Amino acid sequence: MAHQLTLLPGDGIGPEVTEATLQVIEAAGVDIDWDRHRVIGANAVERGRPALPSDIVDSIQERGTALKGPVTTPVGQGFTSVNVQLRQRLDLYSNVRPATSLEGLDTPFDDVDLIIFRENTEGLYSGIEYYDERLDIADSIARVTKRGAERIIRFCFEYAQAHGREHVTLAHKANILKKTSGLFLDIGRDLAAEYPDIKFEDSIIDNLCMQLVTNPENYDCIVSTNLFGDILSDLTAGLVGGLGVTPGANIGDELAVFEAVHGSAPDIAGQNVANPTAMTRTAAMMLQHIGEDEAAAAIEQSLFAMYRDGDTLTQDVGGDASTSEFADALSDRVASKVEA
Ligand code: NAD
Repeated sequence: MAHQLTLLPGDGIGPEVTEATLQVIEAAGVDIDWDRHRVIGANAVERGRPALPSDIVDSIQERGTALKGPVTTPVGQGFTSVNVQLRQRLDLYSNVRPATSLEGLDTPFDDVDLIIFRENTEGLYSGIEYYDERLDIADSIARVTKRGAERIIRFCFEYAQAHGREHVTLAHKANILKKTSGLFLDIGRDLAAEYPDIKFEDSIIDNLCMQLVTNPENYDCIVSTNLFGDILSDLTAGLVGGLGVTPGANIGDELAVFEAVHGSAPDIAGQNVANPTAMTRTAAMMLQHIGEDEAAAAIEQSLFAMYRDGDTLTQDVGGDASTSEFADALSDRVASKVEA
């Protein structure tokens, strides 16, 4: 029976990398009945609809799992990020963003294998902001709740345990933000006692950034609050070849939305040059999530082989292939692997 999933191609490079990814999933032989929603973000607002139309939320709630392309958010004005709204409304509290070195890619490090676990629903993304026009003062509230901190930190430990990972680092700024980061750190220390087989340490965020760009091989699982986690995941993407190759997932207790770390990349949108690797790896994470482990492995192994051979790569990683040429080459590899 076909899997019933939701598809949000998004905007900018979203539709291009989504089409490439659908081609690869099809080559892997997975039968999916997609409920597609193209009207989202600015596209929806232009039609007089909310940036996040309710039929999208309904579809994901009904189907449980979605594959999502990036959606542009206006800077400093306009509608609230659709991406943040979706994570909050569906309570997708764990943002899982792996950064792994790809053999064959020329990057400053070749042995990075870490995962960022970012709290996805509160912190500075709570959306509690004020502007006092009388005094010209702007405030943002970085809300951390005990429940919110506990569930993301526990998710990180549970994931580490289930996947044979040995080391959790909690990133914070509790020396300055004694209440918010302090609460997150206290809860991390308490929970660590429940997982004695996993080495636990904490690190002040600024020091951690320096450590990551000098000795990234020392890190395994890193858990943090929303904004720190977001910044860390772009930083770690940069260690392994950039946003074009880095996948991601938003996971809650019931629902999951799979989306790459990258945004809509307006600078290259519509040019057939975007790298679909991140989205394709994101789809592989999704396939694992829905129990299609073989198809996920076929896609990952084919991708790794393509990078090892330095074959048909896109320009962001030093090649000259277009998005569609990359998709054709990867689909051929996946199809032959699945048939073998
Ligand atoms: P971005 O990730 O879109 O782009 C940053 C840089 O990385 C650009 O130079 C871009 O060309 C490059 N890049 C990104 N993805 C690539 C790919 N697949 N292949 C090749 N190069 C790639 O970040 P930005 O420019 O800060 O944001 C653009 C828009 O995307 C903003 O409106 C932002 O709010 C939105 N955004 C959305 C999401 C999401 O939907 N989850 C995430 C991040 C940013």
